[in-house]
Amino acid sequence: MTDLGLRVDVDTLRGTRDGVPRLLEILDRHRVRATFFFSVGPDNMGRHLWRLLRPSFLIKMLRTHATSLYGWDIVLRGTLWPGPQIGARAAAPIRATAAAGHEIGFHAWDHEAWQRRVERLAPAEIRAIFARGIDSLAAIIGRMPTAAAAPGWRCTNTVLLEKEAFPFAYGSDCRGSAVFVPVAGGQRLSQPQIPVTLPTYDELVGRQGVTDDSYNQRLLAMVRPGELNVLTVHAEVEGGAKSDLFDRFLQEAAARDVCLRPLGELLPRGAAAPLGAIGPELIAGRDGWVAVQRQIAVAAE
Ligand SMILES: [Zn+2]
Repeated sequence: MTDLGLRVDVDTLRGTRDGVPRLLEILDRHRVRATFFFSVGPDNMGRHLWRLLRPSFLIKMLRTHATSLYGWDIVLRGTLWPGPQIGARAAAPIRATAAAGHEIGFHAWDHEAWQRRVERLAPAEIRAIFARGIDSLAAIIGRMPTAAAAPGWRCTNTVLLEKEAFPFAYGSDCRGSAVFVPVAGGQRLSQPQIPVTLPTYDELVGRQGVTDDSYNQRLLAMVRPGELNVLTVHAEVEGGAKSDLFDRFLQEAAARDVCLRPLGELLPRGAAAPLGAIGPELIAGRDGWVAVQRQIAVAAE
C-alpha cells in the first residue's frame, strides 16, 4: 500500500460554497479524509487572473479552458467591486468540513494580494495577516487550524520565520520530494514542511499530450511507492467542473492500493525529519515563482 497525502485548497467564495460540499460528498463516499486549506478574507481572485494577461497566460487560459474550468464569476471577482469576505459569507461549509473529520488548515486572508506581493511584505505585516486569518478561521471551527499552506506556494524565509509564532503542527508551503525541517535565517525552525510532490490539474493537463482521458493514469503513475506523495486539488476545479474526473481518480487510486490521507498523517513518527531550505523557482505549467525545497549542506560534526 502506498500513502498519498491529499490536500484541498479553497481559494474563492464559490469554491467554498459550492466546491467544498461537493468534495465532502465525494470524499465521504470513498471514505477518504483530507486536509482542507481555507481562505477566509476577501475574494479578489478575478484580479489575479486578469493581472496575468500576458501571452503565456492567455495560452494557459485557452489550454485549460479557464472560463469553463473556473466560471465567469471567479474570473471577474474583485475586478469591478471589492470582493466578498469568504469566511463571513460561507462559514457553514467550513464548519461541515471540520465536523466530517477532515484536517483543517489556514490558506489565505486575501489570496490575490498575498500572491502579488508577499516578497514585499514586512515581517509585522505577515504576522498580522496570519493573526487575522487564523482568528477568523478559529472563530468558525471553534479551534485553531492544524497547519498552514501559503497561497500559490509563495513562501519566503521571512514567512517561515513569522509562522513560528503560531501553533501549527506543520506547513505545506512549497514543492518538493520529502518531509523536512526548514532552516531559515540561520535558524532551525520548529514546524516541519510537508511539500507538495505532484502537479495540479492546470499544471499537467494540456501538456505532453495529457488530456482528461489520460489525466488520472498519468497522475497515478507519478506516485512513488515508499516515498512522500502529496497531491493538491482545488475546490474550484475538482469540486467543480472536474468533480467526475476526481471521483474516478479516487476509484482508480483505491484499485491500485493507493491510500489517501490527510497531510498530518504523513509526518514521520519518532525520528526527526532531515533539514532543508526553500528557494524561489519556476516550475512547468505555473505562472511565476513558487517556493521549492532545497538541500542544505550539513557541516561535519
Ligand atoms: Zn490557493
